[in-house]
Amino acid sequence: MRPARALIDLDALRHNYQLARELSGARALAVVKADAYGHGAVRCASALAEEADGFAVACIEEALELRAAGIRAPILLLEGFFEADELALIAEHELWCVVHSAWQLEALERARLARPLQVWLKLDSGMHRVGFHPADYRAAHQRLLACAQVGKIVLMSHFARADEPDCPCTAEQLAVFQAAREGLAAEVSLCNSPALLGWPQLFPQQRPSDWVRPGIMLYGATPFAQPLALAERLRPVMTLESQIISVRELPAGEPVGYGARFVSARPTRVGVVAMGYADGYPRHAPTGTPLAVDGQPTRLIGRVSMDMLTVDLSDLPQAGLGSRVELWGAQVPASTVASAADTIPYQLFCNLKRVPRSYT
Ligand code: PLP
Repeated sequence: MRPARALIDLDALRHNYQLARELSGARALAVVKADAYGHGAVRCASALAEEADGFAVACIEEALELRAAGIRAPILLLEGFFEADELALIAEHELWCVVHSAWQLEALERARLARPLQVWLKLDSGMHRVGFHPADYRAAHQRLLACAQVGKIVLMSHFARADEPDCPCTAEQLAVFQAAREGLAAEVSLCNSPALLGWPQLFPQQRPSDWVRPGIMLYGATPFAQPLALAERLRPVMTLESQIISVRELPAGEPVGYGARFVSARPTRVGVVAMGYADGYPRHAPTGTPLAVDGQPTRLIGRVSMDMLTVDLSDLPQAGLGSRVELWGAQVPASTVASAADTIPYQLFCNLKRVPRSYT
C-alpha cells in the first residue's frame, strides 16, 4: 500500500464545533459541503449527529447523501442551488433552503408542496454575489410571509472580507443588514468562521435562537493569514501524512526533480516522499514550504511531482527510509502550507484526492 493517507480526528471536530457554539452563544449549522471540505461529509456529520443543531451543504445531492446515511438533523441548502421542479424533493426530505433571487420567490409561490419549507432569506449586504438588494429585502420577506409553501423564515447574509482584520467591510455589511432587517422579527444568521474568530467585538454573544455557520474552523484551520488568539483554540482535524520511500546523497551543485528547480548549494541528503499533486498536495508549493519528518521540522525542495515530492534531510541524520512525514496537521498548520503555496486551507482540503482517509 502506498503510505500516503489522511488521518481525521473526529474528537477534534467535535471540539471545534463546541467552540463555535461557545463563541457565538447561538445555534451552529456545521458546514459540511464539498464532502466536509474533503474530510468526508457522512463521517463528519455522523460524528456530530448527537450535538449538531444542523448541517449546511451546497446542493441537493450533498443533502441526500446525508439523509441516506441516516442524518435526521436539519440540513440547509446553503447556496440556494435548486431548480423550481426540485422544491417537492426538498420538501419531501425536509431540507431547508436559502432563497436569494426573485425567480425563487416565484417558484415557491407557484409550488404545491407536501409541507411548508423553512426558508433562509439572503440579503446582499455588500458581497454582491447572491442575495436580495437591501431595497428589495422587506418586499421579499413579505412575499415569503404570504406564501403558503413557506414555514419559518430565517434572515441571513454572508461576509466577503471577515478574514481581513483591519477591513471596515464586515462592520459595514453588518450595518447594512441591521438596517434592512429592522422591524422584522425572525431568527438571524450571519457568522462564518472568520466572523466568529476574528470579530468578537462585532459579534458578542448572540441570541440563543440565532444561527452561526462555521465551516473551516470546524476542521481546525484558521482562515486568517496572521496569528489570531481565538484561532489558537482550534484543534486540527486532518493530518496528511506519508513516508520517505527513497534517500539520495547529493554533492553540491546537483539538481533535484522536474525543471531542476532546486540545485543543492551544499552536499544535501534528499528524501523522496510518496505524496504529489495527484494526491492534492499543491504543485505550487515552493522550496522552503514547511513539513515535518519524524516530528522534526524541515522543508520541501524542488518541484512537487504527480506522485512524489522531495524534502531536505541534511539536518536530520536519524531520518531515513520509512520515516513518517507530516505534510500538514498538528505540527505543520495547513494554513501555513496554504500561505506558502499562495492558496487557502479551504482549497488544500477540498483538493485532496486518491489519499485514503482513516478516522479516529
Ligand atoms: N456560509 C456560507 C453562505 C458559505 O458559503 C460558507 C462557505 O463558503 C460558510 C458559511 C462557511 O464559511 P467558513 O468555512 O469560512 O466558515
